[in-house]
Amino acid sequence: MTLKDRFAQADVHQPCAYMITVNAMTPEDQKALAEAWDKGMSQRTILRVLRAEGYKTSNEAIMAHRKGECKCVK
Ligand SMILES: [Zn+2]
Repeated sequence: MTLKDRFAQADVHQPCAYMITVNAMTPEDQKALAEAWDKGMSQRTILRVLRAEGYKTSNEAIMAHRKGECKCVK
């Protein structure tokens, strides 16, 4: 691979760990999750609910995404 190829690859808009989880959800679950955030539900509660439902995500991944420090935000 050339350096040019590597830069092109590094520049691709990729979802972070949290968004990969969200993207894998059913539309109903995505809606429920968005509503929970809109209601101002705490991150701790949301994480607990997501885990109870079998979604694998972490506090760190959610926090980075919410703060705009994850790789899916440019
Ligand atoms: Zn993200």
